Parts: sequence; structure tokens; C-alpha cells
Amino acid sequence: MQTHEIRRRFLAHFEDAGHTPVPSASLILDDPTLLFVNAGMVQFKPYFLGEAPPPWATATSVQKCVRTGDIENVGHTTRHNTFFQMAGNFSFGDYFKEGAIRHAWALITRSQDDGGYGFDPERIWVTVYENDDEAERIWHEVIGLPAERIQRRDGRDNYWDMGIPGPGGPCSEIYYDRGPEYGVEGGPVADEDRYLEIWNLVFMQDVRGEQSPKYGAAPIGELPQKNIDTGLGVERVAFLLQGVDNVYETDLVRPVIDRVVELSGHSYDDGTPEDGVRFRVIADHVRTGTMLIGDGVVPGNEGRGYVLRRLLRRVVRNARLLGITDPVLVDLVGIVRDAMSPSYPEIATSYERIAAVVRREEEAFLATLATGSRIFESAVAETKAGGSDVLPGSSAFALHDTYGFPIDLTLEMASEAGLSVDEGAFRELMDEQRARAKADAAARKHGGADATAYREILERSGLTDFLGYADQRADAS
Ligand code: ATP
Ligand code: MG
Ligand code: MG
Ligand code: MG
Repeated sequence: MQTHEIRRRFLAHFEDAGHTPVPSASLILDDPTLLFVNAGMVQFKPYFLGEAPPPWATATSVQKCVRTGDIENVGHTTRHNTFFQMAGNFSFGDYFKEGAIRHAWALITRSQDDGGYGFDPERIWVTVYENDDEAERIWHEVIGLPAERIQRRDGRDNYWDMGIPGPGGPCSEIYYDRGPEYGVEGGPVADEDRYLEIWNLVFMQDVRGEQSPKYGAAPIGELPQKNIDTGLGVERVAFLLQGVDNVYETDLVRPVIDRVVELSGHSYDDGTPEDGVRFRVIADHVRTGTMLIGDGVVPGNEGRGYVLRRLLRRVVRNARLLGITDPVLVDLVGIVRDAMSPSYPEIATSYERIAAVVRREEEAFLATLATGSRIFESAVAETKAGGSDVLPGSSAFALHDTYGFPIDLTLEMASEAGLSVDEGAFRELMDEQRARAKADAAARKHGGADATAYREILERSGLTDFLGYADQRADAS
């Protein structure tokens, strides 16, 4: 079943049940707690919180999502895209746990001839929050799922929340058993690769405070009403229903891999495992980059722009590792446009702009690489000649300061060369430089260190979906 049809069936199921279809919001919403929209519920947050009256009692959508917290997983796991589509149904004080569970079960198990996804009910497993007897009872007594295929998990997996203060609630997740050839027995608690998570049903009822109930804190209050917020991974359903090995080989992502095979002359299906990761990273990241630029992000050195820059640079670097030396981004963006524009016409109408942005970015990066790589290579050679496998912090700092190499690029290239980097020394040099810059600025009576501070947070903590609080990684659930 094609991705387009998976989307269509989801919306049709819920529209038939009276839900109002709501278009995807932009990836960029005006929410200070969020870098990118990372779940279907984000555009509905005010309705859950009671800050605005919901225009409908129930709604359904397929939301564009970006999760930068998953960037390191891409290409290595079978299931993590940085951009993906989350299909959802939402109840604002209308139905609650039983309604949500019945709907989900109906859609996934109804036969394909009858408009469903046709998953074998014997292969479905679910999890519930550790103290959620009610959800467990519904799965067992109302749906008839055997008790052995219902597992309890703590808040890290089965509590979802966002923002501070923000809505949250226990959740129940649905998994599909891919079979013994993909891992060990024992349900999702034992193996999340064999048992693939496809759908999360969140019972939105709480207000969370500074501390997240995900990590055991008590909620600080109740929402004005009990709500439902669900998220089904469209790419994950496509992965299963198309009989491929992972989310990168589905109909809307695979064409990029095929194009890179043509451009590089390397094989994907019979290639090395290292090349396999490279193909998948390229296919994933170029799609995310295209969708982000489509929604107005431009490459830059801070915040969203920096995430975009990092994604595009990873595409270019991985293409070079596959032996492609000519510019590739415009070509690959064209493939993404052809795959994505039937669902996202904005990608076709903005194509010229997107192509211009990636063309400029790739030219600039290739120039950076051309000068910096020589310096990098000689630093590597020197390190190895000295019998060490740690690239000095001073080299990483010089690459950053003089040649515009972001630290993550140095880290990646060093690891490919079999070296680690003395990050502690690098940070110290960065701190000293910042302190100098700040003193200079103060001397000139300019305050403005804000942008650097922000960049600094990003660099220190890696790229997180949320800013400001360490436990705000929504993708941890
Ligand atoms: P996982 O544990 O596999 O990382 P998650 O628990 O973080 O997934 P949720 O936050 O529950 O995911 O999101 C709802 C649904 O969205 C998931 O059940 C899954 O189907 C899909 N999904 C989540 N993250 C991704 C991703 N990076 N790529 C593709 N689909 C995803
Ligand atoms: Mg996750
Ligand atoms: Mg989940
Ligand atoms: Mg999960």
C-alpha cells in the first residue's frame, strides 16, 4: 500500500466517524518551547489547555513532523526519520480511552479490501502506563487482546507531555511483531526492533509543571476536560505494508536512494553496511531539508537554520563518502519534490526557491571543505604519527575558528578516520573565546551575546527538539 493511500485511509476512517479533517500545520509554529513541530497535537495545544475553545469536538490530521533528537538514529535503526508524517485523531472532551482504543483497533485490523490496514491481530502487542488499569481492561475485555500481549511500562515510555506548563497524560502504544527473524521474543519491552511501534494513543488529562511525570513527578493539575491525542507513524505503516526493511525504503523515500545509486555507482542492495547507512542518511536528510526550506527555514548558524545547515552538510558529506564529488543537492531535491508534492503541493510551487537555497549552501560548504579538509588531514596525520588516537582540542578549535568547520563535522570526520576528539579542551578554548568576545562587547557597550549563547546551548547539549529543559525530549516516549 502506497504512503498516499495510508494517509487517505486514515483520514477517511476518522472522517466517517465524524472527525473534522484539519490540514497539517507548518513545521514552524510560534511556540517558544519548540524548535520544530514534532507531533500532531502541537497545533491543538491551546484547545487541550483550555486557552481557546476547540472549534470541533473531534478532529483528524496528518501532520508534518521533524525530530532532530532522532538524527543519530537515522540510517542505523529501521524506524527513525528526521522528517515523518504523523497521522492523528483528536478528541477535545468528546470520547476518551475506550473510543480511542476501539478506533485504532478497527483501522489497523480491518481488512485492506474493507478500507483498513489489514494487520494480523495475532501480531499486535500493546503497552499501557504502569498504573493504567483502565486501559489494560479495555484492551483485554473490550478488544479481546490476550493479557500476555499487554505490557506495562513506566513514564519514560508511556507518559507523553509537552511544554511547561503543558498538557500531558498516560499513553498506550501499539506495536506490530515483525517476526522471530527480526529479534528476540518478549514483546516491545524486550525488543523494539522486532516489535515495531506504530501508534501512540495519549490520554490527555493532566497539566505538567517544571518536572515531568515522565520521570515520576506528580502532575500539577488536571486539564479542563479529558482528551485524546494520538499519533500513528505513516512511514512506519508504509514500511510494514510495503514489505521493505525500514522506513527509508518506502515509496516516498527510496527514490532518493535509487538516484544516489545511479550517481555514485555504489550498490545499495548488495553494498557494504557502511554504505547502507550513508544512502539512508542522505535519503532521510535531503527530504527533511526540502520540507524545512519549504516551510521557510534558511541555513544559518543558529537555531533552526543551524539544524537545516547540519542536515544538508551531512547529505553532502555522505555523498562524498560514496564517491560523489559533484554537487548533488539540487538533483536530489528534485527527486524529493516528485515524491512529496502530491501530498505537499507547496514543495512543487516553492521548488525554484528551495533549489536556489540548497545550491548556495552546497557551494559554500564545498568551499569550506576544500580548504578545511587539508588542515584536517594534516592534523589527523600528525596525531597518528604521535601515536595518539585523540585529535587535540586546539586542532578542532582552529578548524572551527579559521575554516568554519562546526564541531559536529570535525567529530564525524575524526570518527571516520578512527580518532576521537578532545572535546573538553575544545570547549575550554571556545569558552575562552566567548569570554573575550563578551569582554570586548562590554567594552564597546554592546550587550548582544544572546545569539552565541543560544548556539552554545545547541552545541553543548546536541540538537534537541525542545529548548531549555533537559527532560523535554518529546521523542523519548
Ligand atoms: P520510538 O520509541 O520508536 O522512537 P516514539 O515513542 O518516540 O517512537 P511517539 O512520540 O510516541 O514516538 O510518536 C508517535 C508515533 O510517531 C510513533 O508511534 C511512531 O509511529 C511515529 N514516530 C515517532 N518518531 C518517529 C520517527 N523518528 N520517524 C518515523 N516515525 C516516528
Ligand atoms: Mg522516539
Ligand atoms: Mg511512542
Ligand atoms: Mg516509543
